[in-house]
Amino acid sequence: MLLLPPKEDKEEESDEIQELDLGIVGHGPAGFTAALYASRAAISVACIGRDYGGQMGLALEIENYPGFENISGIDLADKMRTQAEKFGTKIIYGEISTIVITEDNRFLIKSDMGNYIVTALIIATGGTHRELDVPGEKEFIGRGVSYCATCDAAFFKEKTVVVVGSGDAAATGTLALSDVGAKKIYWTSRSDYLKCERIYVERAEERENIEILYNKQVTEIKGTNTVEEIVFNDGTTLKADGIFAEIGALPNTELAEALGCELEDNLVRIDDDCNTSVPGVFAAGDVTSKIKNPLNRQITTSVGLATIAAISAAEFLQARKTIKKD
Ligand SMILES: Cc1cc2nc3c(=O)[nH]c(=O)nc-3n(C[C@H](O)[C@H](O)[C@H](O)COP(=O)(O)OP(=O)(O)OC[C@H]3O[C@@H](n4cnc5c(N)ncnc54)[C@H](O)[C@@H]3O)c2cc1C
Repeated sequence: MLLLPPKEDKEEESDEIQELDLGIVGHGPAGFTAALYASRAAISVACIGRDYGGQMGLALEIENYPGFENISGIDLADKMRTQAEKFGTKIIYGEISTIVITEDNRFLIKSDMGNYIVTALIIATGGTHRELDVPGEKEFIGRGVSYCATCDAAFFKEKTVVVVGSGDAAATGTLALSDVGAKKIYWTSRSDYLKCERIYVERAEERENIEILYNKQVTEIKGTNTVEEIVFNDGTTLKADGIFAEIGALPNTELAEALGCELEDNLVRIDDDCNTSVPGVFAAGDVTSKIKNPLNRQITTSVGLATIAAISAAEFLQARKTIKKD
């Protein structure tokens, strides 16, 4: 994950506790969108995040965010952040270690860049994609290594790619790559079977540009500027322009769980208004139970839920009549 911007932009660490209306955890599209909506509603907001842009910050090119034909994840994050800042959001670059409920039912946020007490909280902690953990992987992220076929398949038209994984995400990713006209797709499973729905395997077997390979575990990704070759545990190699690691993402639910928020399928359970099971705590984006299908984990879906979460948080704060504007 990228850690931006550089150190000089960071606030100094202090022991002082700042009091605000709303704390937002996350610097992905959900966090920045919630910050924009909340600060426009005259709410004082601290938006605290560790990895700038979240998963979106890893996307080299985004072609499916309306209004932008093509934009990098970092550039889109910059636009979202500056728009929220314009309306008064305090952007804090730091890692939150704990959040606890205070005696007067507010939330004490402890981060490595300072401590905050807020009346309402939006959890937009997203997910962390599972990595292959092999040499070359980090080096080629965005230059052939991708974790999102829905997002990046279009860049591999007439190219040769390897898809890693045996679940539905890998299956649909393989078919998406075939649909956009990849020249050749090697769909690899590390075992002798595929876990996905049978119908996907049947469809893949009908496609001329897909070859399914079993008992293949990636051990290295090689290249110069971009991915060129994939090495497997059996000593074989494949020439490829890209590799899609579709082996799932782990939702970042720890902070919500520690607050007592209920989970559903390992995601933070929210209702239609983005309320979690803990009063005053809202959640949005990839971390929530509203986005169970991995294919739906998109910037657009995250910003949509963040809008709802911010509006719900504003209503909650109005009801508590605690809005403070400095
Ligand atoms: C390589 C890649 C390319 C992609 N391309 C596209 C695309 O083209 N189009 C598209 O629509 N989608 C794309 N996606 C998916 C999209 O990026 C995600 O669906 C989206 O970013 C989810 O937004 P989010 O705000 O819910 O969570 P995230 O983006 O995951 O952001 C979560 C934020 O919470 C922060 N956080 C978590 N825990 C803590 C903590 N303890 N303290 C402080 N901060 C914390 C993280 O650091 C991060 O800033 C792509 C994903 C990847 C990985």
